[in-house]
Amino acid sequence: PGTVFSVSGAVSPTDLAVDQAHSARMYDCLLGGKDNFPADREAVEAAVAAFPHLPSAARQNRSFLHRAARLVAEFGVRQFLDVGTGIPTSPNLHEVVQAAAPESRVVYVDNDPIVLVHARALLTGSPQGRIAYLDADLRDVDRILTAPELIDTLDLTQPVALSLIAILHFVGDDDDPYGIVRRLVERLPSGSHLTISHVASDLNPDVERAAEVYRQRGVDIHARSHADIKRFFDGLELVGPGLVPVQRWLPDDPGFAAVPDAQVGTYGAVAVKP
Ligand code: SAH
Repeated sequence: PGTVFSVSGAVSPTDLAVDQAHSARMYDCLLGGKDNFPADREAVEAAVAAFPHLPSAARQNRSFLHRAARLVAEFGVRQFLDVGTGIPTSPNLHEVVQAAAPESRVVYVDNDPIVLVHARALLTGSPQGRIAYLDADLRDVDRILTAPELIDTLDLTQPVALSLIAILHFVGDDDDPYGIVRRLVERLPSGSHLTISHVASDLNPDVERAAEVYRQRGVDIHARSHADIKRFFDGLELVGPGLVPVQRWLPDDPGFAAVPDAQVGTYGAVAVKP
C-alpha cells in the first residue's frame, strides 16, 4: 500500500537503442553496475582515457547525493522529487531518506527507458512512506508537475526537496535549463530545497575532453562554470558550504579533504527557498 507503481506501456529493445551510448548506462558502467551494453562501455573507456579520474568522480557525485539527501531529511523535509534518477544503485535516495524518516515520500523521474525497466527496484520503500516512478523528461515541467504519479504522492503545499543530481549538464542552453529550474521551484512552497550537482567547466581541462567524447557518441553534455551553475540558485539561500566541488560539501569521510578538485570536476550545492 505504501508504493505506487504506475508505468504506462512496455519497453521494447528498440526503445533501449542498445547500439548507441546512453548517459544513464554510461553512469551505471562508471559506478561498476551491470546494466550497460558494449556501446556504453566503449564510450566510457574513451571518456576515461580523456579524464582518468571519471570513475572516482562519479562515486564522489553519488556520495554527495547521499549526504545532501540526509541533511535535507534532517531539516525535516519529508517529500522528495528526484529528476534524473538513473539506474538503481543502492543506496538509492529513498533508502537514505526513509532510513532517517520512514514516512518520507519520493517521486522519481527519468526519461531513459533503461531506468523505466529497472524502476520496480526503486519502489521497495518502507510501508509508512510512498514512492512513485514517472517516465518523463525534465524539459517537460508541466507534465511532471501535473502527473498523477506526482499529485497522488506529494502534497505541493508542503515543502519538497527537489534534486537534480548530475542531470542539468544534459540540458543545453537552447532548452532553457534556467527557466526549467525556475518553473519547478516556483511551484514549491517556502521551506522547499533544491539540490544540484553539475559537471564543471573550470576545474580541469580534461573534463571538457571527456565531454567531447560523450558528444561524439551522441550524448549531449555541457559542462558549466561555477558562476553559471550558481545562477540555478538565484532567489534561493545556499546552505552549508555553498556551491563547492562535491567532495568538499560536508564530507563525512576524512579522506575527501585530500581529493583535489581537478579529480572530481563536479560542483554541488543545496539551497532552501525562503
Ligand atoms: N541522479 C543520479 C543519476 C545521474 S545520471 C546520480 O547522480 O547518481 C543522469 C540521469 O539523468 C540519467 O539516468 C539520464 O537518463 C537522466 N536524464 C538525462 N536527461 C534527462 C531529461 N531531459 N529528462 C529526464 N531525465 C534525464
